[in-house]
Amino acid sequence: MIKVGLTGGIGSGKTTVSQIFKERGIAVFNSDVCAREAEKETHIQEGYKRILGEDVYVEGQIDRANIRAILFTDKDKLQQVNKLVTPYIKQKFEKFCEDNADHQIVMLESAILFETDSVKNFDYIITVTASENTRIKRVMTRDNSTLEDVLNKLKNQLPELEKIGKSNFIVINDGYDLADSIEILAKQVDAIHKAIKYDMVAKAASELADTLHDTTKELDN
Ligand code: ATP
Repeated sequence: MIKVGLTGGIGSGKTTVSQIFKERGIAVFNSDVCAREAEKETHIQEGYKRILGEDVYVEGQIDRANIRAILFTDKDKLQQVNKLVTPYIKQKFEKFCEDNADHQIVMLESAILFETDSVKNFDYIITVTASENTRIKRVMTRDNSTLEDVLNKLKNQLPELEKIGKSNFIVINDGYDLADSIEILAKQVDAIHKAIKYDMVAKAASELADTLHDTTKELDN
């Protein structure tokens, strides 16, 4: 099984792109959704309270606005929260891989693969990229959020160029109109999908050649 990490800054279009991979038969795991499920776990709730204070849960419900406000301004607490939630996500992703053992390729989508040092768990990393202005506009429209909010989120993410430099593949998603962009996104997804499949075949052929070489040597002796 090949494990692919799909990342990219906020609003770059990770979910849009992962949806296209899904349509190609790849099993996709969404870390954001998993992180929300984690919030229901007792040990995570206790961890949040320890790191961020008792008042992050109001009548049993997580106070996201409060959490965001703390994490925007406190990098140390953000790291502690990531350290708390990342093992949960890793464990759920491992289970997801077991449940999808019939798939040749599984993909994990996460905005913070590099930031949490999770990249080492993957055979390939794909970064979805778009200019900062485009991403800011998209997120403000999608979430009805303020420019300040989006800028705060951006400052906790690794610079775009650094992610690109550390990736095996990139998907450029700089369009303004989703309907217009889908075709070009699909072309990029198909090219990456093909490249990964070719690489898998090349690796299998190389392993087979090594085995044949060893067997021939043994027979010769
Ligand atoms: P986040 O990390 O913030 O969850 P994301 O990287 O998963 O974001 P998406 O949710 O896929 O990004 O896209 C962000 C928003 O931008 C969505 O509303 C999506 O519909 C829109 N969008 C994505 N790609 C394009 C595009 N090429 N043209 C116009 N809108 C787009």
